[in-house]
Amino acid sequence: MQSRLRLTPAPPDAGIVFRRTDLDLFRIEAHGSNVARVSYATSLMKQGVLLSTTEHLLAAIYSCGIDNVYIDIDAIELPILDGSAEPFMQMIDEAGIRKLRRKRRYLKVLKPVEVVEDDRRIGIYPSDDFRVCCYVDFPHPMVGQQEVEMVVNSESFRQVLSRARTFCFESDIEPLRAMGLIRGGSLDNAIVLTRDGVLNGPLRYADEFGRHKALDLIGDLALAGLPLLGRVEARKAGHALHTQLVSRLLADTGAWTITTEDHAPEAPRPIVDAFAESHAAD
Ligand SMILES: [Zn+2]
Repeated sequence: MQSRLRLTPAPPDAGIVFRRTDLDLFRIEAHGSNVARVSYATSLMKQGVLLSTTEHLLAAIYSCGIDNVYIDIDAIELPILDGSAEPFMQMIDEAGIRKLRRKRRYLKVLKPVEVVEDDRRIGIYPSDDFRVCCYVDFPHPMVGQQEVEMVVNSESFRQVLSRARTFCFESDIEPLRAMGLIRGGSLDNAIVLTRDGVLNGPLRYADEFGRHKALDLIGDLALAGLPLLGRVEARKAGHALHTQLVSRLLADTGAWTITTEDHAPEAPRPIVDAFAESHAAD
């Protein structure tokens, strides 16, 4: 399937908004209130209109400090490309980012908010900058325990996370392949894990899995709707817990405030928008 994705400048306070160009520019705001269902990817839905696999593009946009942008897409799913956020970073780089004059608004966390599910947990805590700590533990010889901790800004995202690809298990794709649903492209847009190794190596990093999980986490946190001032700790979490945290945070209006004070001296993040165009095919 071919789809066309285009980032278009949006006015101040527009936020990050998907527009389905195949449905008269139907708008789906990148916001926790529009989270539909989450499994291997995050999907948004509004008035029955679905949009799937939003997390990699949102991770790039959010990390680059882009607050206002229209994401025009003519399909139900965002292009997966190579399974990382690098192609989206290239789009943003080619387009450039325009700084707006008005002060940037942040969602500043005032008290902890947590979601716990058995041995999986995620929490957000007060901090003067936006930082994530992501811990994964997969029972697989190529994965095991991996941990990434960083202050999130465009440079740290670019250097540490943007190239880390998504992954799946060979056992997950075999039934799909048998049904003829996966053609040649699948080995190009995900790391495929076999029982004890990698089907399509080499890995880009020994801890590519942990890095990708942190990328996914940031993409889901973008659904807070504003840049965060808070520290997020995720342990064996995933899209479901990430989005539950965002929903719980937004619902607990005593846990945060909206501020225009500019913290994060290491990571000056201007109010920006972006313009880019890309052709993508699966
Ligand atoms: Zn992912």
